[in-house]
Amino acid sequence: MGDSAVKKTTGSCLCGAITFELHGEPISNCLCFCNSCRKSTGSIGMANSWYKKENFRILTGEDKLRIFYDNTPDSGGQIERSFCTECGSTMVAENKGKFPGAVIVPVGAMDVDLRDGEWKPSQEYFCKRRANWLEIKAETKEFWELF
Ligand SMILES: [Zn+2]
Ligand SMILES: [Zn+2]
Repeated sequence: MGDSAVKKTTGSCLCGAITFELHGEPISNCLCFCNSCRKSTGSIGMANSWYKKENFRILTGEDKLRIFYDNTPDSGGQIERSFCTECGSTMVAENKGKFPGAVIVPVGAMDVDLRDGEWKPSQEYFCKRRANWLEIKAETKEFWELF
């Protein structure tokens, strides 16, 4: 297969300074309800895609990216959570100690049509913290904590 056959997904932060591109398919799509995902997004959890790091490329605005070294995750270890210094949007995260070679890309930053089902989760992490009124209408593997 030539390069033209490889699926490309683009994404950006809210202000548009940071843009990125993802090549091929993700390793997995997940929802995470752990405390640090909640705090860092200011929401009920986080929806994201795991990609191999070599399939992630920043196109613009690398100088606007800043990393917060998060030592609070329920899963232990350290997560490098990046964000845009202009608009504060959540950008990619990495857990180099536990999952070297992977980037965790927030679906909110990706240019996908959620209504269309272009992105749907296959796994749910930290269900022990998931809101009891939340019903996910997708086939997911549920984990009480992390896999
Ligand atoms: Zn921005
Ligand atoms: Zn999490």
